[in-house]
Amino acid sequence: MARVRVALVKCDSYDPEVVRTAVERAFSLLGGAESLLPGRGTCLVKPNLLSPSRPELAITTNPEVVKAVVTEVKKVAEGVVVGDSPGRGDTLGAAEASGVAQACREAGVSVVSFDEGLDVRVPEGRVCKDFYVAVPVVQAEALVNVAKMKTHGFMGYTGAVKNLYGCIPGTRKAKFHLRYQGKEEFGLMLLDLLAAVRPAVSVLDAVVAMDGDGPSHGRPRPFGAIMASTDPVAVDSVALRLAGVDPTVVPYLKAAAEHGAGAVAEEDIEVVGDPPESFTIKDFRMPSGNRHRSLLRFGGIMKKSITARPVINLMKCTGCAVCQRSCPPQVISMSRKKAVIDHKRCIRCYCCHEMCPSGAIDLRMGLVARALDRFIDSLAIK
Ligand code: SF4
Ligand code: SF4
Repeated sequence: MARVRVALVKCDSYDPEVVRTAVERAFSLLGGAESLLPGRGTCLVKPNLLSPSRPELAITTNPEVVKAVVTEVKKVAEGVVVGDSPGRGDTLGAAEASGVAQACREAGVSVVSFDEGLDVRVPEGRVCKDFYVAVPVVQAEALVNVAKMKTHGFMGYTGAVKNLYGCIPGTRKAKFHLRYQGKEEFGLMLLDLLAAVRPAVSVLDAVVAMDGDGPSHGRPRPFGAIMASTDPVAVDSVALRLAGVDPTVVPYLKAAAEHGAGAVAEEDIEVVGDPPESFTIKDFRMPSGNRHRSLLRFGGIMKKSITARPVINLMKCTGCAVCQRSCPPQVISMSRKKAVIDHKRCIRCYCCHEMCPSGAIDLRMGLVARALDRFIDSLAIK
């Protein structure tokens, strides 16, 4: 079987010319826009616009990366639009705050909202055969995925594959957290979604990634790379290995490896471009909810005790109720203008942590888990 090619290109800053050159080279290493998007009419470029956030916070795809990708796509596509469905706020607000709207104006393309969807059937779906997908995604002749490399409280990591979750309009996303509460089944659902929308090419903005408690409250981490591939699973697998993380700790990549839904194993991937050794990061921190996943194999009791739970920081909570609106099982109430979580009914999806605009929700492990954490750290096992 031919190996899947992943372009890995050094890019140390968001200087427009540096990014444009890096993205152009990444496309070229994959055969160029002409071969990636042959005969394409309208292309939909999908960045990560998780929330209305400034680009330096590393929550959203950097506007210079979006602009450089649009420039490449415009070489062959008749029409290009840019869109996403944010978890908080609306598309246009998130695009303005993140600088993506201005980048689109400079590139001469429009930002479109993902308010409405169409039913897309995936007969081969493992856990989900029907998705409601944003109209611009369904109507585009090609999807160009432009993700941000970040950690993620629930899945451990979000990159090229998880970015596709934004193809589902607005609050419909919450429904999937209720239906697929386990990490493994949620991961399988993401692979079914990948089969439904099938991007022509996936670009990963890892110039500045995010580690720690991502995807909204982690630490911006200079990584210095632009990656790209026709296989988003392969892009994510390469990115994680560079960060010193076994890709199979991420549920959807483990499932992809088991089900042959993309290239995960090193021997199945051909990295082209700059040498991987020049990117390696040794202290990339996974999020609190996902440390030491290897202990989960010891069973249910261990699983419960080492899974972090969301805890409201009353000093930081402004009472905005964003978390209440974003909680899939509706287990957050407001009392005296502060959020209160019913932990007995909490499914630990961490949507509240992701959406809180004030960073007022911590993911906290219990005493047993913290003791284990310290013990494992002392052994230097991650
Ligand atoms: S925890 Fe965050 S999202 Fe929830 S009410 Fe407080 S500030 Fe708002
Ligand atoms: S409280 Fe937070 S972690 Fe718990 S179910 Fe609601 S959104 Fe998910």
